[in-house]
Amino acid sequence: MMPKRLLVRGARQLLTLRGSAPPRRGAGLKELSIIENAAMVVEDGQITAVGPASRIENLATVRHAEELNVRGRVVMPGFVDSHTHLLYGAPRLEDFEMRIAGRSYEEIAAAGGGIASSAKKVRRASQAALRAQAQRELWRMAACGTTTVEAKSGYALDGPGELRCLRVLDGLDGQPIEVLPTFLGAHAVPEEFHGRSDAYIDYLVSEVMPAVAARKLARFVDVYCDRNAFSLPQARRYLEAARRLGFGLRVHAAQFADIGAVALAVELGAHSVDHLERIDPAVIPVLGRSSTVATLLPGSVLFLGGSQHAPARALIEAGAAVALATDYNPGTSPMWNMQMAVALACTQMRMTPAEAIVAATVNAAYSLGIADRTGTLESGKQADFVVLDAGDYREIGYYFGANLAVMTVKNGRLLEPPEEESTDGKETG
Ligand SMILES: [Zn+2]
Repeated sequence: MMPKRLLVRGARQLLTLRGSAPPRRGAGLKELSIIENAAMVVEDGQITAVGPASRIENLATVRHAEELNVRGRVVMPGFVDSHTHLLYGAPRLEDFEMRIAGRSYEEIAAAGGGIASSAKKVRRASQAALRAQAQRELWRMAACGTTTVEAKSGYALDGPGELRCLRVLDGLDGQPIEVLPTFLGAHAVPEEFHGRSDAYIDYLVSEVMPAVAARKLARFVDVYCDRNAFSLPQARRYLEAARRLGFGLRVHAAQFADIGAVALAVELGAHSVDHLERIDPAVIPVLGRSSTVATLLPGSVLFLGGSQHAPARALIEAGAAVALATDYNPGTSPMWNMQMAVALACTQMRMTPAEAIVAATVNAAYSLGIADRTGTLESGKQADFVVLDAGDYREIGYYFGANLAVMTVKNGRLLEPPEEESTDGKETG
């Protein structure tokens, strides 16, 4: 039950993230605006006051409020995970072992693993099984402090299957956290279009994308434009069609090679361009001057056993609006914990803990077009926050691999997983 009025008290550090208008760049990426010994008032799911406990606890409005005492811990905005492949049916454990044996991501795909093998499983899975799988992941994410998640389709790779997955995602919105769906039909070429990727793009543009638009099943459209994925002309055709239909654009770019996808994303005014491990250094200033958010995904680099992360420092120095996400997916980043993304950003990409937190909250929210209502803890914003078992926010990047979240609150509601959600549910039908 959401109490009508809630007083959050006892925060040793409350990270408001109040500051310059998003997206935050350069020095703005360090703006945490921390209040020590803080309190916060929440009414009907919205923050109505935040400040030092000495002031907030004396407000007349808190006299009959329910109390949430966080006992000297850190309170910060809930994480916004702006890049996930949440709905995938089943894990890819065969691929995992092939990779350990030394096969590359591209070799695994050629051997029948990879995205195409997920597509086979997802097409066969029942809607209930898909829902159960994604629902379990949402609770896992919520338990780690994530309050909003972007979720891509792209594991069915045909019209009916993609629409079905987007419908499942739509049904999960708010169950228990906010889900923003993205259509990623151009994730890989399905078996029936083998060797005919242009024809597959034609099919997506002429049949599937208009159907997604008509049913309002996605806010964004995404494409995987890389070596051994879709070509630059194919991506342009697909993204221009998406833009004409009113979708916001997101692009998987420069994970294995920069074939021009980053420049294309900027040119088309994409909300976000994601990965960037192999970004052409000449394009960094172009991205830095743009309004396209540079979303970095260090989990996939770690899981693939790579060492070349996105050049976060060069991007920040060029003025890029950097965001962080998990890239949660069964093939290259089975990591749902945004705290781990923060830790990797600090240790592998030399982002400071403050920069990583801004990237994982307010900038990620901006890339999804929702920074006006979430990503910071200020009056008028949704009460989306996490309580961390820490006395100092820098512990998030420091205790890597841990989950420090002890409470996650979405729209003023404390999230507590129902018993049955915590058990298996691994069946995919
Ligand atoms: Zn991805």
